[in-house]
Amino acid sequence: MTDVEPILVADSLSSGYGDIQVLWGASVTVWPGRISVLLGSNGAGKSTMLRTISGLNRATSGRVTYRGRDITGESAPKRARDGIAYVMEGKRLFHARTVEENLMLGGYTRSRSRRTLRGRAGGIYEKFPMLGERRSVRAGALSGGQQQMLAIGQALMSEPAVLMLDEPSGGLAPAIVKDVFRIVEELRAEGLGVLLVEQAAEQALAIADHVTVLNVGKVVIDRPADQVEDVSVIRSAYLGMGDLETPGARGGQAQPEDQPTPPVDPAPGDETR
Ligand code: ATP
Repeated sequence: MTDVEPILVADSLSSGYGDIQVLWGASVTVWPGRISVLLGSNGAGKSTMLRTISGLNRATSGRVTYRGRDITGESAPKRARDGIAYVMEGKRLFHARTVEENLMLGGYTRSRSRRTLRGRAGGIYEKFPMLGERRSVRAGALSGGQQQMLAIGQALMSEPAVLMLDEPSGGLAPAIVKDVFRIVEELRAEGLGVLLVEQAAEQALAIADHVTVLNVGKVVIDRPADQVEDVSVIRSAYLGMGDLETPGARGGQAQPEDQPTPPVDPAPGDETR
């Protein structure tokens, strides 16, 4: 990992919702052509990390550096325009609009020219032929896996350098998850920096270059994926064991694995679009 400079560094971020602090000085790093995986149990703060990097949540301390520039004070639309794309959990699409219209809307952050956008959509159809075949179908009529592909395609329409994906495997059958992860690997091969938030730890680890684990808003593991011996170690870290170097030294606050997903306010206007 030392051979490539990071494209995005979220350094010691604190953030939350009103009086509720969720992130407590947490850091993640994204490299071009690499997949950084962010793991942790429900409520650990993974989505909050992505929201803070995207600019939807304000960092109360720490900073976000992108291409060597401090962007902590910049707006979410500016970050999206500059190449930081965010696919939110739950595949937020325009269900009544067609596949093609959803793609075009995804590209508006960077270009308003229909010709340019059509050209880009053509590129997306090459990558996802299934979307090309369904370009006139309403997004709401697609299967869950197809919607996930469309959500990723929509994010790619802005030609990002960093792609943040929040639980793309959510609610999908294992075979479809495999397809989604294969696409993520292809995007890595094309040089994109990927920050992947997942609950499906085993599958995410299989494609990860770097792994960060959050527990109650703090980083408890941060290391190259090839230095993560076992997924059970990661799972223990979810529960607050913390330091991999001292297995068995259990501490911190336990987080129930099956805690229901908290409601997250819809982003106003979904500014990544
Ligand atoms: P999950 O896997 O369940 O999505 P997560 O690790 O992504 O979990 P977050 O969604 O970042 O966790 O939530 C972290 C904490 O922030 C939770 O305790 C949650 O209740 C709280 N939280 C999330 N969104 C809001 C909100 N809009 N208002 C208030 N609190 C929130």
